[in-house]
Amino acid sequence: MQDLIKDIEKLEVISKRLEPETELLKDWNRKVNAYGLEFVQGLDAGKAYEQYDGQELDFLDFGPEGDSIDNALEKIKSTVDHFGINPASGGHLGYIPGGGLYSSALGDYLAAVSNRYAGIFYANPGAVKMENDLIKWTAQVMGYPSDSGGNLSSGGSIANLIAVTTARDYMGIEGSKVEEAVVYMTEQVHHCVHKALRIAGLGKTIWRQVPMDSAYRMDVSALEQLMDSDKKAGRIPFMVFASAGTTDVGAVDPLNRIADLTDKYSCWFHVDGAYGAAFKLVAAFNPLFKGIERSDSLVIDPHKGLFLAYGLGIVLVKNVDALAKSHYYNANYMQDAKVDNSMDWSPADLSPELTKHFRGMRMWLSFKLFGMNAFRASIEEKHLLAKYFWVRMKEEGFELGPEPALSVVIYRFQPEAKDRDTFNMALMQTVLKDGFNFISSTRINDEIWLRLAVLSFRTHKDRIDHLIATLVHAKNELLRH
Ligand SMILES: *Cc1c(COP(=O)(O)O)cnc(C)c1O
Repeated sequence: MQDLIKDIEKLEVISKRLEPETELLKDWNRKVNAYGLEFVQGLDAGKAYEQYDGQELDFLDFGPEGDSIDNALEKIKSTVDHFGINPASGGHLGYIPGGGLYSSALGDYLAAVSNRYAGIFYANPGAVKMENDLIKWTAQVMGYPSDSGGNLSSGGSIANLIAVTTARDYMGIEGSKVEEAVVYMTEQVHHCVHKALRIAGLGKTIWRQVPMDSAYRMDVSALEQLMDSDKKAGRIPFMVFASAGTTDVGAVDPLNRIADLTDKYSCWFHVDGAYGAAFKLVAAFNPLFKGIERSDSLVIDPHKGLFLAYGLGIVLVKNVDALAKSHYYNANYMQDAKVDNSMDWSPADLSPELTKHFRGMRMWLSFKLFGMNAFRASIEEKHLLAKYFWVRMKEEGFELGPEPALSVVIYRFQPEAKDRDTFNMALMQTVLKDGFNFISSTRINDEIWLRLAVLSFRTHKDRIDHLIATLVHAKNELLRH
């Protein structure tokens, strides 16, 4: 017994290093804060892209006794915060940006410092109610009934997976039915939908690629023909995946007319609004999104259109019981946490996760500090910036894709006597080499287009003007050579 106690006491001295004195915590706080503020202050003048020079990146450099916060921050600065895309920069105009509001970092800090358990209502009624209220708020914005369910997931991919799993179980797609079930989507659907189907054991369902109109939206007459012939042939029209803002071109499928068909054929209607659904906060977009409220499930990514730091997607499912049926669990060691009727839903019963990051805090704190008007204005500003780019580039003689429904523009230059694809890739490389702005490209019908995606709250007109000037200058240079 004496030896046991001695051993414990010896270990206690060392293990208490994990509980530093307040003075050290203050020092860490001050330095991490200063680092964060310096980072943010440098964004306006800084680059959005830094090409990786190939230097070795090694993070297994911690010794047994620990290091200083100065060394740690120095290391982060020269590696993580140096190479690649800087998504916090307003110059990030490729893929789908978002930005990362400073308030969401503070929300994460608060959530992690207290480490509240947001998986089960019993464990922290406040944290879980906060997340459930945010889901209710989202439902209200989207026109879903107040008794809809949902989950704050790590992102859009997992949110889509949760919806697919729920639809699968609700529609009874199992066993021999898998190969008779048909899913409908356009070629522009996000690839995470393909992944979700495979992960959910639905890789062998029949996948129909519905044709699109000239603005890359689902052709509803074509969809009707496909559903009709599948039904007549004894197959099961199982699920339609519509996009409320495709990643490639920002197209919104005709949701209301699709809803007529999913009603008619008793098919699950899913809307992937990971990129675009946040635009519904702005009243002017309501006609474009008409019918979104008729879907059975819907995805929105607050780490895109609501500018939060990475790690937050939301899935809404109208039938919360169906969502729970696919995700609830029972375990003996959880018996104290059983749902009783006075309690709200627990995230652990509505998603694959048990213990989870308390993601609601970053969203709630941001809403609480800024209010919604700033978000609305910023979202509308992004749309108008995309429109401005579209008009200006047309004036500069570029070929433009459809006028932006949301905030993505595809464009390219058609050079005489030069290969178009090679020319446009060279244009993009010039922008990336400069690095002040970051843009990306895509391939549609096997042709190269350059893309502009405006969705960082930090992107304003000066950035867009800078990009236009860089592109026009690079185009002229390339033409001269
Ligand atoms: C970004 C995106 C996704 C994937 O979401 P993640 O948060 O990256 O997992 C799905 N669908 C669309 C339309 C997207 O733009």
